[in-house]
Amino acid sequence: MILAVPPVVAAALVPGLETPSEFRAIVNAHFRLAPPAELAPMIGIVNGTVEWLFAFPDRLSVTISAADRLLEVPREVLADKLWQEVAAVAGLPMTLPPWQIVRERRATFAATPGENAKRPAAPTAWRNLWLAGDWTRTGLPATIEGAIRSGNLAADLAVRS
Ligand SMILES: Cc1cc2nc3c(=O)[nH]c(=O)nc-3n(C[C@H](O)[C@H](O)[C@H](O)COP(=O)(O)OP(=O)(O)OC[C@H]3O[C@@H](n4cnc5c(N)ncnc54)[C@H](O)[C@@H]3O)c2cc1C
Repeated sequence: MILAVPPVVAAALVPGLETPSEFRAIVNAHFRLAPPAELAPMIGIVNGTVEWLFAFPDRLSVTISAADRLLEVPREVLADKLWQEVAAVAGLPMTLPPWQIVRERRATFAATPGENAKRPAAPTAWRNLWLAGDWTRTGLPATIEGAIRSGNLAADLAVRS
């Protein structure tokens, strides 16, 4: 069996398993409008609240990592603040278009030495149970690439056993 659930769930299921237990949030904002044709599909922004701006045919989307400071900001206030930055970058009117804010509180484990030390390897104390997930000991931060590598490793170990 390969257990590929979030660390909090794995810790509840596997007796004695230590996992990262401190997390960081990611906030996404989506604004519904057709962006200017000349806008780059992906823009990195420095010295702003917005970190990444993605242009899609029917919307502009914002991503902000390690965004715990934004979790308690009222949604309307946050949408307006982020739109002011987006509008300035994209050369659009400051009037807020239809929007949606998505706050993922446990988006990644905290990338600290203490939390990193708590990442378990794929094998467990049980010979028929392996772990997979970006939070296992992949050598990478909490990324899709890390999740894929951990899945491949767990599958290899299961097949070889
Ligand atoms: C908003 C956001 C933006 C991100 N942006 C990027 C990015 O740009 N680049 C990048 O590389 N990574 C990014 N990441 C991180 C990336 O999404 C993760 O590293 C990756 O998805 C982790 O994969 P995983 O398989 O370890 O866990 P998950 O994808 O979280 O899979 C865990 C699965 O377990 C399931 N599950 C939960 N509880 C139970 C239960 N009790 N029983 C059964 N199943 C359960 C869940 O439904 C889920 O399907 C982002 C993450 C978030 C949240």
